[in-house]
Amino acid sequence: MEFNKDLEVQPVTGKANTRYRNFPMVPRVIFGAGSFGQLGEILMPHRKNSDAPMLFLIDDVFMQQELVSRIPRIFNDQIIFISAEEEPKTEQVDTIVAEIIKEYSELPSGIVGIGGGTLLDLAKAVALMLTNKGSASEYQGWDLVQKPSIYHVGIPTISGTGAEVSRTTVLMGPEMKLGINSDYTTFDQVILDPELLAGVSKEQWFYTGMDCFIHCIESLNGTYLNAFSQSYGEKALDLCMEVFLGDLPPEASRDKLMMASWHGGMSIAYSQVGVAHAMSYGLSYVLGVKHGIGNCLVFQHLQEFYPEGVALFNKMRQKHGIILPTGICKGLSEAQFETMIRVSLGMQPLWENALGKDWRKIISPEKLRAIYNKI
Ligand code: NAD
Ligand code: ZN
Repeated sequence: MEFNKDLEVQPVTGKANTRYRNFPMVPRVIFGAGSFGQLGEILMPHRKNSDAPMLFLIDDVFMQQELVSRIPRIFNDQIIFISAEEEPKTEQVDTIVAEIIKEYSELPSGIVGIGGGTLLDLAKAVALMLTNKGSASEYQGWDLVQKPSIYHVGIPTISGTGAEVSRTTVLMGPEMKLGINSDYTTFDQVILDPELLAGVSKEQWFYTGMDCFIHCIESLNGTYLNAFSQSYGEKALDLCMEVFLGDLPPEASRDKLMMASWHGGMSIAYSQVGVAHAMSYGLSYVLGVKHGIGNCLVFQHLQEFYPEGVALFNKMRQKHGIILPTGICKGLSEAQFETMIRVSLGMQPLWENALGKDWRKIISPEKLRAIYNKI
């Protein structure tokens, strides 16, 4: 969830008393089919000594796959397989960090995350928590991180979340699902190798890809929009249209979706997401529904807020024969509905971006309940 409270955003009109945030960007990126093969040489200058390993956190979907044999492991480097079945948790980060500290006599040279948003977020969080004391849950929020993380590299294997460019790592904590938003969170290096996307199932490709599409629609239709966000959002949207409504060959489709995700992430860095994300956050909190599919489940019912976006979404869904599950909220207790609505309405900047300063006059608990009932 890219809940971006750290913007003191006003539409950029050059008001003398407006304070603008100074955002970090990924300082190094390599793009191209097969670029994963350069990982060894990219890591080499960052190796401190033979006792300080590179740790590769990789989605366990790759366990039996050739990709693992291509990981440039030397000295005491370690490959750690992690399931992406569930979204990352602060407790999980704390456990991984404790194990690393126990096993090695000094800090690792770096952390390399290989996978989707789940693994990228875990890699960011582990890199941060190796240098910052306490539990990851203490840093959920904005700019609470005190010390720079260790060197960390992100290698996406599925495209859409924009986690590869963002300055947050979204974690489920004991009390809330919230990102560790900080200038130290952003990756030091990203490797964009479209070949790595080849094995993604059609459904998952669609759900995670729609996260990007929805980022664009919410950013471009938001009141926080400015030329920075618009320039990235429009490009990402064009790329999504080519990927999901065009007839591209598979290689071109992967290349373009990878860049759509990047631009979509950049677009929301300096603006904000909107209604679908606010509501999907509630779904995820109460039911554990994952980010991509959660956004789709909500977005299909948001004609009132994003008429053109929902029409396009339905066209894309039909073209690819995606049937969304139904009855997700059926049988939920009153208390569960209340929590879902409370969590969603708590996303104040998202609502304000979507509907303006008077958003409370437009949206009500009853209205949210009616939408959730349809899911
Ligand atoms: P994911 O990492 O949860 O993976 C989804 C599924 O795809 C998993 O089953 C995984 O094993 C599989 N998969 C990934 N790559 C594959 C490949 N190449 N071949 C076959 N299967 C593959 O997916 P996601 O949608 O990218 O990430 C969702 C997570 O990202 C959520 O936890 C969400 O909170 C987070 N997120 C973070 C940000 C951010 O800015 N940090 C932004 C949006 C979402
Ligand atoms: Zn998203």
